[in-house]
Amino acid sequence: MTRSILILGGTADARLLAGKLADESGYRMLLSMAGRTRDPVPQPVPMRTGGFGGASGLAAFITEHAFDILVDVTHPYAASISANAMRAAAIANVPLVTLERPAWKTQAGDDWQSVADVESAVKALGTECKNAFLALGRQELLPFEAAPQHNYLIRSVDPVEPPLTVPSAHYITARGPFAVEDEINLLRENRIEFIVSKNSGGTAAYAKIEAARQLGITVLMIERPPLARTATVPDIDAALSAIRHQLSLLEERGE
Ligand code: NAP
Repeated sequence: MTRSILILGGTADARLLAGKLADESGYRMLLSMAGRTRDPVPQPVPMRTGGFGGASGLAAFITEHAFDILVDVTHPYAASISANAMRAAAIANVPLVTLERPAWKTQAGDDWQSVADVESAVKALGTECKNAFLALGRQELLPFEAAPQHNYLIRSVDPVEPPLTVPSAHYITARGPFAVEDEINLLRENRIEFIVSKNSGGTAAYAKIEAARQLGITVLMIERPPLARTATVPDIDAALSAIRHQLSLLEERGE
């Protein structure tokens, strides 16, 4: 029997997981993206783009297309879609597997200041002019317009358009993974004093954190949004096992 899997993506993990599932026979798959990235990387399985219209819309989509299982591999800061996934799986009565990369933890030599959100990071930069590296998505940058006294180095996947109204901002577009040596050079050349980062977990975005440790730079770490999650799996292999396990339970129940 061909089982059908709906994957909520927008992350490298979702692409890699979809690729591994595609290597196994017996699955019909659809990878769903929000459609934020202007030039998305090619995906190994069929794709759809755009919101579902909340949890009820997602549940209706699951039922209409007869998916057997929902797999949430969205980014840990994409809180709405993950909350919707939990509700939709319950409404549509399908199992949910959620992959959540464990958050990075401080190591000896790290100088992190934890901040609740982007606005708190802006305040933590202070009133004096600082050189700050913002490793954030373009939709998260607007609060920095309230602090035009700083020099900003901004790296995002898509161009920041329109640019911020601050007088001193330099923009780089790049997609990870990044190498520690390159990050060290970037931070040195721009005399960076603060990095503003999300705690994404995983390896692709970690090089800047390691570079900051080596250079003694403060990281303003934006905490993950609180989400009352049920069980999660920490990596792709665990997600594969959980998906196979959930599908075998359906088989046993004759569903
Ligand atoms: P969000 O705030 O949780 O989601 C906002 C709305 O966008 C959702 O309610 C949903 O609309 C739609 N949406 C989000 N992900 C979707 C998906 N995979 N498929 C279909 N619709 C989706 O999400 P966000 O923080 O804006 O992130 C958007 C996307 O970018 C996510 O796929 C996420 O994995 C990826 N991403 C986010 C970050 C980050 O830092 N936030 C970083 C890297 C990648 P409806 O309610 O209409 O269904």
